[in-house]
Amino acid sequence: MRPFDYQRPESAEAARAAAASEGASFIAGGTNLIDLMKLEVMAPERVVDISRLGLDGIEAQDGGMRIGATVTNSDLAADMTVRRRYPVLSRALLAGASGQLRNKATTGGNLLQRTRCPYFYDTDAACNKRAPGSGCAALGGEMRNHAVLGISEHCVALHPSDMAVAMRVLDARVEVAAADGAVRDLALDDFYRLPGDTPHLETTLDPGDLITAVRLPAPLGDRQVYRKVRDRASYAFALVSVAAVLRMEGGRIAEAALAFGGLGSRPWRDPEVERLLAGEAPSEALFDKAGEVLLRDATPHEGTEFKLPLAKRALKAVLTEAAQ
Ligand code: SF4
Repeated sequence: MRPFDYQRPESAEAARAAAASEGASFIAGGTNLIDLMKLEVMAPERVVDISRLGLDGIEAQDGGMRIGATVTNSDLAADMTVRRRYPVLSRALLAGASGQLRNKATTGGNLLQRTRCPYFYDTDAACNKRAPGSGCAALGGEMRNHAVLGISEHCVALHPSDMAVAMRVLDARVEVAAADGAVRDLALDDFYRLPGDTPHLETTLDPGDLITAVRLPAPLGDRQVYRKVRDRASYAFALVSVAAVLRMEGGRIAEAALAFGGLGSRPWRDPEVERLLAGEAPSEALFDKAGEVLLRDATPHEGTEFKLPLAKRALKAVLTEAAQ
């Protein structure tokens, strides 16, 4: 690990100012950043600790919720309002990492966790995300935990978060305070970038931008399911995961929201699939069609082809459970 300057400001304003220069990084739980610093994949010159700024509240707001950026994954999963109104979020959180990690990992940090592509963590390997312009060792290399949607010829990395998939299906918005104090509110589609030819730029955040909270609107429906398919029963990243929220009316799917993990370069959502389901009676044929539509633009490589049939089966199982 390289030497770095550690600061623990007394206010969010001071924290934003301390992190406004290139080479600075916020730290809260540190469950991903510390690993990356030990491996020298990331080497911030200054680490700004935001864990004691009072950003750890959970409150009702506008019929939904406002979740502070440093609320831990354990506290969020156990919150009674989350369990009652947003069970898809609670289940996704509990499907992620281990109990010890969830006790430290935070809401804002979870959104910002880096890919688990093994070449990203190997500083001897070519990686456009870690070292822009160096190439991509995954292409032509060992591929399994990589994406099939939203990828580019420069990077096929996967977004690894379970929580972010649930946030995506719930139409979460990320509240961000800039270094100059301006506050903005970003949908996750505007928060995460696609890799394109700049895979090292993963979000639209600028230096000094501090995630202060995540806002959830009232849920679309009460039929909520999160299913994660993985290599072992715990402490493993998703090969494929599906988050579903349905509103049923008279035996038909009135509205559907679906988000996917294990498939995309960012938590994936596809309005075409949701449009296909809206107003329809549940059926095997409909759910099979939904899988076809979801993967119409998928570009698997050798080693990730298995994800296509797996995703279709997982989606069908989740829709069947949610619509019952
Ligand atoms: Fe790096 Fe992305 Fe290629 Fe992995 S897939 S080696 S993260 S550029």
